[in-house]
Amino acid sequence: MNKKIYCDYAATTFVSGEVMQEMMPCFNTVWGNASSLHSFGREAVALVDRARDRVAKAINADKSSEVYFTSGGTEANNWAIKGIARANRAKGNHIITSAIEHESVLEACRQLEAEGFVVTYLPVDEHGLVSITDLIHSINEKTSLVSVMSVNNEVGTVQNIKTIANIAHEYGAIFHTDAVQAIGALKMNVKDMDVDVMSISGHKIYAPKGVGALYVKNGVKIEPILAGGNQERGLRAGTTNVPSIVGFGKAIEIATRDLVINQKKLKSIRNYFLSKVAENISDVQVNGHPYQKVQGTVNISFKFVEAEALLTLLDMAGIAVSTGSACTSGSTLPSHVLKAMGLSTELAKGTIRFSFGKSTTKEDVDYIVEKLTESVAKLRELSPKSKRGRKRKEDK
Ligand SMILES: *Cc1c(COP(=O)(O)O)cnc(C)c1O
Repeated sequence: MNKKIYCDYAATTFVSGEVMQEMMPCFNTVWGNASSLHSFGREAVALVDRARDRVAKAINADKSSEVYFTSGGTEANNWAIKGIARANRAKGNHIITSAIEHESVLEACRQLEAEGFVVTYLPVDEHGLVSITDLIHSINEKTSLVSVMSVNNEVGTVQNIKTIANIAHEYGAIFHTDAVQAIGALKMNVKDMDVDVMSISGHKIYAPKGVGALYVKNGVKIEPILAGGNQERGLRAGTTNVPSIVGFGKAIEIATRDLVINQKKLKSIRNYFLSKVAENISDVQVNGHPYQKVQGTVNISFKFVEAEALLTLLDMAGIAVSTGSACTSGSTLPSHVLKAMGLSTELAKGTIRFSFGKSTTKEDVDYIVEKLTESVAKLRELSPKSKRGRKRKEDK
């Protein structure tokens, strides 16, 4: 029996059947270029407009025209950070973000530093919550942009977005949030949350890879980062990716429609998983916030274990998980998120992210915990630092 269990939904999801169905006509029926003036173009535009309406509705934007489609979360983040910083340079060259952002935010900020911008990277507490005190101390009249993610992709911590947005606005700064991991997990309402600019992505919510959007509130000054055609009201050049946008629109509608029921199911899966882990494995630490968290993401450190070795053993058993630092896999550096939360390098390197989704069942969890228990025991047997490993050495 060759089991295959996917437990890495925070990295990407499959494309749901409903989404695929919605996309199908875009490949061979309504396949025109949305910039064309003829009927083929107009038909494509109609589908894109409907998707734009769906995205706007899902996040409670005032107008659909505040939604700009991009190639994904990475582009949305790059555009938000660079486009806002450059367009608002007259106000000041100071940007505030957090130490636990996605690489696409952190690297965009580093590029801006090379252009002469000054960036403050706010620290987080042991649960991954951004320090509001540090925000208040670092923000000033020269701050043009504050960017803090809604939900962290490694540990699932949910930030106090509204508080942070309010503080940004006190100083006339624009507030951006990377909400890629929040869509489908939390009710995202740009008006209630006082968000000016928001990045979202398709492939974390059962739409295809390579599509996303940036919400830009009417009146926010932003420059394009791509040179080219006049698509997306002149702000995002490139031929409109009609099929993926259509899929994304459907996916965000479904994610919003099913949010409560999905989260309820994920909460029960999560609690079941954690109780079984606690029953079977000693010396573990669950990372993240005790209650300001999303249900689907569980981040666990296993003492005396190398996460990469554990990932390999689980993979051999057909179970797909991620180390704390999925995007930096291949490097030997520990996760910047876990380091910022104060974990030791050793503990950070023994950390696995389990992320559950639509297809996860309790039976999957039983199998995962069975293999996890075996694999952790096996690795600790070999570890010179664990009690069992030490004992084994002494026996020799
Ligand atoms: C996945 C992810 C991104 C990047 O989105 P892509 O569409 O893959 O480029 C950005 N931020 C967070 C928090 C993510 O989880």
